[in-house]
Amino acid sequence: MSLIIPFDNSFARMPGVFFSHQNPVAVKNPHLIAWNSDLAAVMGITPGEVEERASVFAGNAIPEGATPLAQLYSGHQFGNYNPQLGDGRAVLLGELVGTDGIRRDIQLKGSGRTPYSRQGDGRAWLGPVLREYVVSEAMHALGIPTTRALAAVETGETVQREQGYPGAVLTRVAKSHLRVGTFQIFAARGDTRSLTQLTNYAIGRHYPEAVGPMGLLRAVRDAQAKLIAHWMSVGFIHGVMNTDNSSISGETIDYGPCAFMDAYHPNTVFSSIDRMGRYAYSNQPDISVWNLAQLATALIRQMDDPEAAVEEATEIVHAMPDMLQSHWLTRFRAKLGLLNAEDGDAELIAELLQGMAENQADFTNTFHALGKPNARDQFVSPAVFDTWEENWRARVEREANVDETLRLANPVLIPRNHRVEQMIEAAVAGDYAPFNRLNAALSQPFVENAEYADLRTPPTPQEVVQATFC
Ligand code: AMP
Ligand code: MG
Ligand code: MG
Repeated sequence: MSLIIPFDNSFARMPGVFFSHQNPVAVKNPHLIAWNSDLAAVMGITPGEVEERASVFAGNAIPEGATPLAQLYSGHQFGNYNPQLGDGRAVLLGELVGTDGIRRDIQLKGSGRTPYSRQGDGRAWLGPVLREYVVSEAMHALGIPTTRALAAVETGETVQREQGYPGAVLTRVAKSHLRVGTFQIFAARGDTRSLTQLTNYAIGRHYPEAVGPMGLLRAVRDAQAKLIAHWMSVGFIHGVMNTDNSSISGETIDYGPCAFMDAYHPNTVFSSIDRMGRYAYSNQPDISVWNLAQLATALIRQMDDPEAAVEEATEIVHAMPDMLQSHWLTRFRAKLGLLNAEDGDAELIAELLQGMAENQADFTNTFHALGKPNARDQFVSPAVFDTWEENWRARVEREANVDETLRLANPVLIPRNHRVEQMIEAAVAGDYAPFNRLNAALSQPFVENAEYADLRTPPTPQEVVQATFC
């Protein structure tokens, strides 16, 4: 084989309680539909022939050095504890250390049933695979920590959901797939030995400077607080912030019914399964604290002095809201062109956001238009913006390089829902041009390119996507 993946697997050497050995289940007729050559190069992968890639990233051929396994975890789903989840439609092929020195997991998603599939078919259909491909790569280009997409393959098989859809497998790459839920399951079982092994593994892999379980908790908190504030700053809504979808490394993981907001409203929800709005846009910071509290609860189970541990963990978790607020403020200040902190900045941001919510202003386009004549056009009542703008102009007087700050904080392009849906529809019909174009455009989200002007426009009423599915 001329496709070479220089595996260096560490998780497979952990005790068997953490996973089940599981090969991907072969598919009928694999066809490579996407290949991320930039990422492959960083990872030190020799791409080989297209047919080999189709075969390997469909799970039909096991590449040399792979140790395929399904990882075990549990988690809180919409607030309710599910004692056993695990990779039900994914297998970890292995890990490798890239040319940049970063160790990454290579996982196939949609690769067939595993011991953790429960009632599921272990498969994915083309829509969610392409959505994750586009959105995760867009997030990466926006500078947001995320899993990435290395490849996508059509399987030649039909996946049954509300109707039959073309099946697909996504190859996803992550700093690791350790989740809050990976810790929860061993804590819930009272398996403190495994919990400690896992803690040490996570520290060694992600936070070598961290000391002990509480050191890990602090490190995850810091990474998650930064991450969620970053999401908020681009209008990203994850959609399923269950503890099994909350990563230890601080990457965005498990793209399901995720979406970016068009018109700003804090209560925005897209996910068809989030009926109560638990994971609405503005709830995300609170939910990340709740998820950290679940990690704290799990990690404590291995501590010798539980009382002291509870006290320390409580302190760590209770510090998170202020951290989120501080990262949020830094991000939104920058979105207003502000690098210095002044009293009144939070109010200035809040006033703009309130005006935007009341005027159905497009989140991305409003921020991008700040300082330009068309900003007021984003508002149903432009006078609301005019009043705010006067205060803003007075404030930016005391800043240098405002234009550059604005430019770096406010993307031109985000993967808008309606474009993602249109791209999926086209791909299902066999047309991959919109998928390729979307990827190309979103690889430079801060660059104004007239060629992609259509990707900047909010949806027409007919184009609005009310709900996203996974
Ligand atoms: P998610 O909400 O995508 O993070 O998935 C939650 C759990 O359900 C995980 O354990 C998944 O592996 C499992 N799961 C989701 N879809 C399927 C499927 N089609 N077949 C088997 N397991 C699935
Ligand atoms: Mg096992
Ligand atoms: Mg998940």
